[in-house]
Amino acid sequence: MSEPAVVVENLVKRYGELVAVDGLSLNVASGEILGLLGPNGSGKTTAINCILQLLTYNRGEIRVFGEPMSATAYELKRRIGVVPQEVAVFEELTVQENIDAFCALYVSDRTHRRELVQEAIEFVDLGRFAKFRPKKLSGGLLRRLNIACGIAHRPELIILDEPTVAVDPQSRSAILDGIKRLNARGATVIYTSHYMEEVEQLCTRISIMDRGKQIAGGTASELKAMIGTGERIRVEVVSPTELGERELEAVRRAEHVRTVVYEAPELVVECSPGAHNLADVLEALARAGVSCGRITSEPPTLNDVFLEITGRALRDEAA
Ligand code: ADP
Ligand code: MG
Repeated sequence: MSEPAVVVENLVKRYGELVAVDGLSLNVASGEILGLLGPNGSGKTTAINCILQLLTYNRGEIRVFGEPMSATAYELKRRIGVVPQEVAVFEELTVQENIDAFCALYVSDRTHRRELVQEAIEFVDLGRFAKFRPKKLSGGLLRRLNIACGIAHRPELIILDEPTVAVDPQSRSAILDGIKRLNARGATVIYTSHYMEEVEQLCTRISIMDRGKQIAGGTASELKAMIGTGERIRVEVVSPTELGERELEAVRRAEHVRTVVYEAPELVVECSPGAHNLADVLEALARAGVSCGRITSEPPTLNDVFLEITGRALRDEAA
C-alpha cells in the first residue's frame, strides 16, 4: 500500500462561537478522486483552507504525502495545486500571462514554464483566448482559467473547491473531463461540491459533510447501500383509470415495499433494498388486473442518503 496523499485527523476550526469544522477526519488515498459533498455552509472550504494552512485551526493533525503540513512547508506546497472557490486571477494580465505568473511560483526555468503553460492552456481548451484579459471572459472561461492557474505546474495533488458553480453546461462537462484526465495521468484529487450528481459521476470515493462533520463516507454504491431506501419505481397506470384501495393494497403487500403514492395516472412505489423489487411490484399489479404504460425504476440518489441521515434535503441547484 502506498502512502495516503492526505490524512486529516480530528480537525476543529472555530470562527468565534461557530464551529465550522467539527472533528473532521479524512484519509485520501494516492490516486483517488475524493469528493467532499455537502450543502453550502457545511465547512468544505474551511476544511480545504485548513489543509492548505491558509487558515489556522483549533485542533487537528494534517499530513500530506506522509509529512506534517505547515504554513512554511514549501516543498510540500509545490506538489499541491489549488483551484480556489473564488476565481483569483490578475485583471491586468492575459490568460497566458496569468497562468505563467502562477506557474512561476513553483517553476523558475522559463523554457520549461513555457511548455507547462502551453500544456495547461490546451488542457482547459483556452487556446483561442490566450491573449484575452480576464474581464473579456465569460464565467465558464474564467473558471477554466482559474483551473489552468492551479494545475500548470503539474501538481501531484489537486484540490478544487466548487470549480463548476455558475458555469454553463459545456464548460462544466469540459471541467469534469479535464479533472478525470488529470487523475488518469496520476494526480490525486480532492473535489468539493454541493452538486451530488457531479460528485457521483466524478469521484471514486465520497465524504458527505454536514455542519462541519463527515456524516457518511464511501463509494457512491456503498453510501446508497447504507440506507433503507432501495429503488423508486414509477408506473403509469393505463387501466383502470382510477386505482382503488384493493389494487393499492396489493402493491403495499409486495415484499420490500415501503411507501405507495398514487396520483393518477402515476403510481410511485418506494422499496427497501431487494433483488427483484421491480418484478414483484409488476406481478402484484398484474394480479390485481392493472395494466401499465411507461415504467421506470430509479436507484436511490445521494440526496436520499443525505435525507435519511440528516432529515433534510441536500439541495442540488445552483447556489
Ligand atoms: P462551505 O464551503 O461548505 O459552503 P464554509 O467552510 O465556507 O462552508 O463555511 C462553514 C461555516 O463557517 C458557515 O457557517 C460559514 O458561514 C462560516 N464561515 C466561513 N468563513 C467564515 C469567516 N471568515 N468568519 C466567520 N464565519 C465563517
Ligand atoms: Mg465553500
